[in-house]
Amino acid sequence: MADKIKVKGTIVEIDGDEMTRVMWVWVKDKLLHPYVDMKLEYYDLGLKHRDETEDKVTTDSAEAIKKHGVGVKCATITPNKDRIKEYGLKQEWKSPNGTIRAALDGTVFRAPILMKNIPPSVSTWKKPIHIGRHAYGDVYKNAEIRVPAAGKGELVFTPADGSAPTKLTIHDFKGPGVLQGIHNTDKSIASFAKACFTYAYDNKIPLWFGTKDTISKTYDAQFRKIFEEEYKKNWEQKYKDAGLLYNFTLIDDTVARIMRSEGGMLWACKNYDGDVMSDMLGSAYGSLAMMTSVLVSPDGKYEYEASHGTVQKHYYKYQKGEKTSTNPMALIFAWAGALRKRGEMDNTPDVVAFANKLEEACRNTVEGGVMTGDLIAVAEKSSKNKLVLTEDFIDAIRVNLDKLLKAKK
Ligand code: NAP
Ligand code: MG
Repeated sequence: MADKIKVKGTIVEIDGDEMTRVMWVWVKDKLLHPYVDMKLEYYDLGLKHRDETEDKVTTDSAEAIKKHGVGVKCATITPNKDRIKEYGLKQEWKSPNGTIRAALDGTVFRAPILMKNIPPSVSTWKKPIHIGRHAYGDVYKNAEIRVPAAGKGELVFTPADGSAPTKLTIHDFKGPGVLQGIHNTDKSIASFAKACFTYAYDNKIPLWFGTKDTISKTYDAQFRKIFEEEYKKNWEQKYKDAGLLYNFTLIDDTVARIMRSEGGMLWACKNYDGDVMSDMLGSAYGSLAMMTSVLVSPDGKYEYEASHGTVQKHYYKYQKGEKTSTNPMALIFAWAGALRKRGEMDNTPDVVAFANKLEEACRNTVEGGVMTGDLIAVAEKSSKNKLVLTEDFIDAIRVNLDKLLKAKK
């Protein structure tokens, strides 16, 4: 084997659970270690180890990303009551993704992995639609009350400086109902806006943003205002020079336009919109495993991950000794993303080139007809199509990778 490609800086490796943890090892052993010499700082976020460390390993891994700048994360179980029983947990630990997002104050960007032979279910979409999801506040940090009977629901703000509170009536209940309080902060919205303008600019794609500010004249209007301010202050000239557009419309209009578009934009979404719309895009583009995901902090730290879960059902089959046809594409693209970013930061073009070839090898494999079960179900029918098991799929990618690495020498 020729000399391995050297990665200068450290990559924070965050291991996970179930089927993705199994595939993680295969991906590293077959597609990475034979070719690249990497300094990895390893954090085991497998549920058992999170429990053993009282979840300290999760916060440690976030700190490590802050220190080294680039991390790559496997999918992890977010515990619920069933998992507490299954793993004998000390408590219902929080979602590691939530913890890491909060620590990095990050924005999550997702984009589909497109293949020529897997047409999106929306026929006008020719280019990937990237989604930037604000990962703070709104309904995800809400306070809710079940209103049991008639009474007044009020919104109260009590200033820290002791001045008079502001009070608004939400509703005079004549009988039972529900109440919800949500919030956001200017600081978090501004970080989100900055991250979106930066991502769209770096990727040379227009930025689309929609809120419901005609109805929510204070809350949603504040998002619109902060985006507008960020654009005017830091981006207007740059966007004009690069021929890029910042396009604000009402959220329902944005959705309608997205459906008729060719794709190829960053769609900035408030937290809930991003949660819902990224799943819609994921399935419309073929499979949950055909989506890249990266968490970007305002000060330029990156965590690459698969956006799907741990593929629990496949894992239970695997545990019984059955072979599965699980798609490792999102995991491979997460590693490729981390390597590319490391190469850009360290100024090592050979690392960037390797990451590009790794992705190209994946494309060549699927476009050549070799596919996992989730893909073959949605791909264009062809006599070339061949359903393979996970490990055979990774082996086929390796064959294509070897071809690309030899060809370009
Ligand atoms: P999931 O792991 O995303 O899987 C849901 C279904 O989607 C699978 O049963 C499978 O469908 C299909 N699928 C997802 N990824 C696939 C892949 N790579 N290849 C082939 N098919 C794939 O979601 P889940 O089963 O609801 O959640 C399992 C665990 O993941 C949960 O404990 C949850 O907390 C965790 N989770 C973690 C993350 C993260 O860390 N990023 C995200 C979401 C969920 P078929 O069974 O029909 O083949
Ligand atoms: Mg969701």
